[in-house]
Amino acid sequence: MIEKPHRTIIEPFKIKMVEPLPSCTHNEREKILKEAGYNLFMVAAKHVTFDFLTDSGTSAMSSAQWGAMMIADESYAGSTSFERFQKTVCDLTGYAHVLPTHQGRAAERLLFGVILKPGMKVPSNNHFDTTRANIEQSGAEAIDLVIDEAKDSTSMHPFKGNIDIAKLDSFCAKYQDIIPCGMLTITNNTGGGQPVSLENIRSAAKVYKKYDIPFILDVCRFAENSYLIKMREEGQEDRSVKDIAKETFSLADGCMMSGKKDGLSNIGGFIALKSDKWVSALRSSLILTEGFPTYGGLAARDLEALAVGLKEVLDESYLSYRIATSNYMATRLNKYDIPTMQPAGGHAVYIDAKAFLSHIPQHQFPGQSLVCEMFLAEGIRACEIGSVMFGKTENETFKPAAMELVRLAFPRRVYTQSHFDYVLEGMAEIAKKKKDLRGMRLAWEPPFLRHFTARFEPM
Ligand SMILES: *Cc1c(COP(=O)(O)O)cnc(C)c1O
Repeated sequence: MIEKPHRTIIEPFKIKMVEPLPSCTHNEREKILKEAGYNLFMVAAKHVTFDFLTDSGTSAMSSAQWGAMMIADESYAGSTSFERFQKTVCDLTGYAHVLPTHQGRAAERLLFGVILKPGMKVPSNNHFDTTRANIEQSGAEAIDLVIDEAKDSTSMHPFKGNIDIAKLDSFCAKYQDIIPCGMLTITNNTGGGQPVSLENIRSAAKVYKKYDIPFILDVCRFAENSYLIKMREEGQEDRSVKDIAKETFSLADGCMMSGKKDGLSNIGGFIALKSDKWVSALRSSLILTEGFPTYGGLAARDLEALAVGLKEVLDESYLSYRIATSNYMATRLNKYDIPTMQPAGGHAVYIDAKAFLSHIPQHQFPGQSLVCEMFLAEGIRACEIGSVMFGKTENETFKPAAMELVRLAFPRRVYTQSHFDYVLEGMAEIAKKKKDLRGMRLAWEPPFLRHFTARFEPM
């Protein structure tokens, strides 16, 4: 643990392998951005100096993970690596069944493909974008029931990922027969990387049980959520993070995970379930598209990296350093009058672009304007989570997203404290000239998940 929080944040690891940090000139970036249609997803990584686009699949692996990869058993069926992976997941979650997948969305597509029919509904605090897309792809509806405080970016509520239990109860009462599963996303990525309290997970579990609805957790960031429970929830401070994580899993009937987050691996995911009810249908579907159930679209070495990562991520000195970084970034940005979602989330800092660039109306995408400027001026890549991602135009009427956020997601164990300080200096410069930033116009959009490939033009 980092026991002296007033001292410099230190990385609780030594560096054994390095890679060069890319850098481009302002002029080069101007050209690159234009060619990319002002969409940072279309910019080549070799042109990005600080890549905060996502914390997904971007972790630096440990020597223990690389070591485990070397002893992987690449057998098609019954690999020893699968046995190790399965034991790790089953020990951690307490669930009996585990199906590996190549990443989180494959788990979503499999599960929803098996249990959803058109017209059905799936409640959660907030569904992540791929989760929502996979539910909608099955003709069902993804319902967000997060607490009202989550929509207020200044609220200091310690668990803004919580689901509204009263709303959940009446929703389940009304639609019980067409809810094949109920969910909770921990931490709540879409709502700002905010944690869900243990008390809220317990209450949601009770509601789902009352209406006989299977409870499935989206556990991409279960370790960060458990650490934030330890830090913020009364009565949890003396428990180990692992113990809190285990209780979290025990309250649900199963989970889906992208190992690219708290699995500390570059690829991989899984579905784990208490009961065998859906398992054989899932297995058949898995074989059809992902691969045999003992590798599920992964190389055995990926299963090894994931198995080691799932244990390492519960190291409390790692988690304390991890959460200290996002706190530090949020606090410093606020000092430069850059408002961020409060309190800081686990894996990321979310800038409130609507408040920061109040001169740019929502239909001109203030978040997109800010991510473009951050790249142009400083070589930083961030992700818009606002009206580009969630806004819609229906019958020629623009429907904005609830918030216009810009997410700086921090890859795990990748950047050092001096990198973060350098980024903050750049953000301070942007804050000084923010009035010069202009809005954006959509030039082209695909039919769904438009933020990945849409093209823009500056106004
Ligand atoms: C990343 C993520 C997913 C999807 O996982 P992928 O590995 O990117 O397919 C699902 N839910 C949440 C909360 C996520 O953060």
